[in-house]
Amino acid sequence: MTSPVEGSRRTKTSEPSNRYSEGKRTAWLRPLRNSLAVRGMVYIMIYTNGHVNRKCQFPLAVCDRMVTAVMTTPHKLIDLSHTVAHGLITYKGLPAPIICDYLSREASRKHYAAGTEFQIGKIEMVANTGTYLDSPFHRYADGKDLSELDLQKLANLPAIKIPAQHQQAIDVSCLPRQADLAGKAVLIETGWSRHWNTSQYFEGHPFLTEDAARFLADSGAALVGIDSHNIDDVQDLRRPVHTILLRNGIPIVEHMTNLAALPPVDFRFFAVPVKVKGFGTFPVRAFAIV
Ligand SMILES: [Zn+2]
Repeated sequence: MTSPVEGSRRTKTSEPSNRYSEGKRTAWLRPLRNSLAVRGMVYIMIYTNGHVNRKCQFPLAVCDRMVTAVMTTPHKLIDLSHTVAHGLITYKGLPAPIICDYLSREASRKHYAAGTEFQIGKIEMVANTGTYLDSPFHRYADGKDLSELDLQKLANLPAIKIPAQHQQAIDVSCLPRQADLAGKAVLIETGWSRHWNTSQYFEGHPFLTEDAARFLADSGAALVGIDSHNIDDVQDLRRPVHTILLRNGIPIVEHMTNLAALPPVDFRFFAVPVKVKGFGTFPVRAFAIV
């Protein structure tokens, strides 16, 4: 018969009370964790750069806590979005958002009990504001609009960051030919976001070339993001990168920021817009979990 103490301990061991679900990265620890139920002492090999540096013996209780700690370590969230603000222009030639009260706190008081108030905001903006995502409908009348996008292509995507800080025209030679890009969010780090909210942001920005877009589409990338003013060269009125990626059903995220905070690989990417029918583009709160 199981005592209440044992029972509660077993429950705690098999179901860690972590705020995040157990990911692939820690799933391999589950057998070790389960083995602690029957073994009194456990050897743990400590790896550094792929080599066994130390082999330590720990009592069960200590080891159980260590494994639990590793499995439940919160992942770090990294914000990759610009702040949308009243009057702040994202794209040269398009209007800045107008942000105001629809119902002010003061005006709301008459609707509620004494001491209770709310604000209901109103925003007037073009779809291409802040850090935003383009769906195929942005380019093609018969392409999927925001409401038709598959969530699998927008959230929890395995991701890779491509460093491309030193050239304006980012061609296929800048992309990793050997890397497996299939099903991944490919984020191009140009560093151009440092010019956000300055006149420089609109002039001479980095962009992908047509051959780079074709390579990404052929590689099966799930989504392509960039921290620049436009993923295309604005001088090329054919907009070949939008044309190729969106024709292949690959959403594009533009005007990202903070890509320097990301590791090159081994992170997950999220960029989910509001589900608007008949709309091609919308701001997202783009972020990564590392
Ligand atoms: Zn775009």
